[in-house]
Amino acid sequence: MTASVTPTHCPYCALQCGMNLTPAPDGGVEVAERADFPVNRGALCGKGRTAPALLSSRVRLTSPLVRTGGVLVPAGWDEALSRIAEGLARTRAEHGPDACGVFGGGGLTNEKAYALGKFARVVLRTSQIDYNGRFCMSSAAAAGVRAFGLDRGLPFPLEDVPRTGCVILVGSNLAETMPPALRFVTELKENGGTLIVVDPRRTRTAEQADLHLAPRPGTDLALALGMLHLVVAEGRTDEEYVRDRTSGWEEARAAAMAHWPEHVERITGVSVPELRAAVRMFCEPENAMVLTARGPEQQSKGTDTVGAWINLCLATGRPGRPLSGYGCLTGQGNGQGGREHGQKADQLPGYRKLTDPAARRHVAEVWGVDPATLPGPGRSAYELLDAMGTDIRSLLLMGSNPVVSAPRAAHVEERLRSLDFLAVADVVLSETAALADVVLPVTQWAEETGTTTNLEGRVLLRRRALTPPEGVRSDLDVLHGLAALLGVEKGFPTDPEEVFEELRRASEGGPADYSGITYRRLAEENGVFWPCPAREGPDGSAGDTDAGPDAPAGGGSGGGHHPGTPRLFLDRFATEDGRARFVPVSHRPAAEEPDDEYPVLLTTGRVVAQYQSGAQTRRVDELNAAAPGPFVEMHPRLAARLGAADGDAVTVVSRRGRAVAPARITAAIRPDTVFMPFHWPGEGRTNTLTNPALDPVSRMPEFKACAVRVERVEAV
Ligand code: SF4
Repeated sequence: MTASVTPTHCPYCALQCGMNLTPAPDGGVEVAERADFPVNRGALCGKGRTAPALLSSRVRLTSPLVRTGGVLVPAGWDEALSRIAEGLARTRAEHGPDACGVFGGGGLTNEKAYALGKFARVVLRTSQIDYNGRFCMSSAAAAGVRAFGLDRGLPFPLEDVPRTGCVILVGSNLAETMPPALRFVTELKENGGTLIVVDPRRTRTAEQADLHLAPRPGTDLALALGMLHLVVAEGRTDEEYVRDRTSGWEEARAAAMAHWPEHVERITGVSVPELRAAVRMFCEPENAMVLTARGPEQQSKGTDTVGAWINLCLATGRPGRPLSGYGCLTGQGNGQGGREHGQKADQLPGYRKLTDPAARRHVAEVWGVDPATLPGPGRSAYELLDAMGTDIRSLLLMGSNPVVSAPRAAHVEERLRSLDFLAVADVVLSETAALADVVLPVTQWAEETGTTTNLEGRVLLRRRALTPPEGVRSDLDVLHGLAALLGVEKGFPTDPEEVFEELRRASEGGPADYSGITYRRLAEENGVFWPCPAREGPDGSAGDTDAGPDAPAGGGSGGGHHPGTPRLFLDRFATEDGRARFVPVSHRPAAEEPDDEYPVLLTTGRVVAQYQSGAQTRRVDELNAAAPGPFVEMHPRLAARLGAADGDAVTVVSRRGRAVAPARITAAIRPDTVFMPFHWPGEGRTNTLTNPALDPVSRMPEFKACAVRVERVEAV
């Protein structure tokens, strides 16, 4: 490697693929292969490969914008920051601190997420902070905490996947959402393992499966219960494991036994023979895993749905054993770290509970404030957005584009317009930024240093490779400047390593303990898995080093420090008694089922060339050409009923609004379901249609199932 090569990580999804940046002839950077990072071993998808395009794009913002006479016009940084500070201060004075809202993003680095949470609670003194990660993996996080006492997306490295015996992928389309990860399941098959994919669509991932189960959207909870029923009925329960490592089995068992396979077949559309085959494939190997993604999680019963899959894993003795267990494939780039360090409504840094008095004392001491001044938990993301213009009067938003990505998006857009004051920090004029009173142009991934935590819980160092354009500042600069204008001169450094050092102390002793992790270690060890405490164990050892017998790269000894924890739960779970908890769950329908007026189910998702709301990827020519707009995927039988041919414009109508997009006709989807990707604004905005019915535990909206009517648009 030459001195001009900067090893770093992709700005997009939770895989956080390693890449090298090299100088480009135009003064920018080019992406080059980086084979030393074990998650992607040099492979990148089109999004990662083209990521530098946005650094020099003519559409990126390089000057603050302030609304004057109803239009956004360029302004200086002093004026822009003053306008934001005045807007927030006015709201606080007139309506109280909780009238100020803060909305973050799962793409922000750990340092930014930490500083944003601290800014909300120390400077604004508001409880009203949450982030778009609530829409991503919150149901899996809630179910993981409920069952294991701890949420870390994957409690084992991805490298374990090819070495297990069977993987059930539930509601994950790896081939499109994180293509380099597909090799883990193809290697699994090459090694003799089997793959089961649960998805209402025969996706490119499902095409790889040995068994594809295609349940009706919103019924995977029943599917898992049916499998658990058969596990018990066929005598496949791991009695010894259940006795020694779990609690609550009898109640969970009784709930599953109430779901007869024939009943489950009627609910899900998955036949009893298919259920039996899945149980046999999952139970026969010594090791097996269930990996969930947004399919089961983005439901109004997402926590219980994930809980049902965890119960299946526990009954068969999988979690906390080598090469086995349950994991969640988190989606956003720092979806994992973003939820650990304080931008979530109910969390303090270190994944501590905001309601825990000891956690409040610890974090308040690090922050140099009285714990009594720390606000309590606030509203979840959708509830916060829904309260805009009523209880929430001003909003500071970083790294998110809810006009496209929030459920019931037209309503959210109208709520944003009704705010007294809106400030947005972004790299482009997103659909949400276009509504703001002040827009701040901020640095991008290759122009700043910072850490992220990928879906495995592996903390990574992203390095600065470029000087940002003139006129652009980092989010940390923004928070530093605003804090000073609002009367807090200290505590908001602009140097990311300084922020990380404070984050280490704030996280010490918490579930997500980063205190033993330093920038130096991240650089030398190519990432470190949390928890990684700094303090030594009572015998002078480096604490609990539950790294497993053959810990992979990233779990190195680190020169006598704690090595980090690639594999969790091998000895005990993170509950008080060390046992995993079964939680009894039962099937219930989606919040909105089809009826005569809205007879079809809509499910939503992603395409390979776009990322989330598309704010970045829609502005990259190559990606835009590959995926220029939305579509409505439908079965030929539904298309025939509508009289629609492939490419015909169709209108999809739900109780919340309508969207128009071309039909894409394929037998790869159930006849009772249509699918729309959600990356675009305008008349094809999928989230105009989606249902904000919330999971009672995780507060996750039901993106994955709502009732719609589909109509062919008649030519005029
Ligand atoms: Fe980036 Fe994800 Fe693509 Fe890897 S899979 S290159 S992290 S977008």
